[in-house]
Amino acid sequence: MNCLLCEQKLASSPSWQLLLAIENTSLICEDCSKSFERVDIKEEDDVVDQVTSIYTYNEPMREYLHQFKFLQDVALAGVFANELRTELARKDDIIVPIPMHPQKKIERTFAHVEEMLTAARIPFEDLLIKKNTEVMGEKTREERLAMRNLFSIKPGSDVKNKTYILIDDIYTTGTTLRHAATVLKEAGAERVEAVTLIRAER
Ligand SMILES: [Zn+2]
Repeated sequence: MNCLLCEQKLASSPSWQLLLAIENTSLICEDCSKSFERVDIKEEDDVVDQVTSIYTYNEPMREYLHQFKFLQDVALAGVFANELRTELARKDDIIVPIPMHPQKKIERTFAHVEEMLTAARIPFEDLLIKKNTEVMGEKTREERLAMRNLFSIKPGSDVKNKTYILIDDIYTTGTTLRHAATVLKEAGAERVEAVTLIRAER
């Protein structure tokens, strides 16, 4: 097997190790692994009770995200499966991926956040609906603050008194997570945390 990112041949694991620890089988080589920079930040927000981010947005991560999201290389969904599983294993709260707008999902062919969770075999609830196709990066701070909520909750969902963990690929200004947390809390959710793969500079 070769590294999904640089094609270098992966060191093969002894078969007993594969049998005992199949969960730890990596899809990328050690060089590529080391090129990603851990950050492990926990932040608070006025609406999101805690945001945990795992990696910085360095050049290798930028390339990874480009290949996964924009070049639609769905095999890359599993690259950070172990890290996500480790981060989420201790929590028994309900995992909710930040969704794409349905139109965007057709263009991109898959919902990348859901694919990451599926590849990591992390159970999740598809609770939110994205209502518009606006792109946050194209907005000024004033425009972002004045926006109507980007999300709604799927009809018939009961979120009262429950605790949720939102999952997104990248945390930049926090607007997306704040909108998602707001809609859940307004419907009665008790606590909303978030875990993002990447923390970008504001
Ligand atoms: Zn590699």
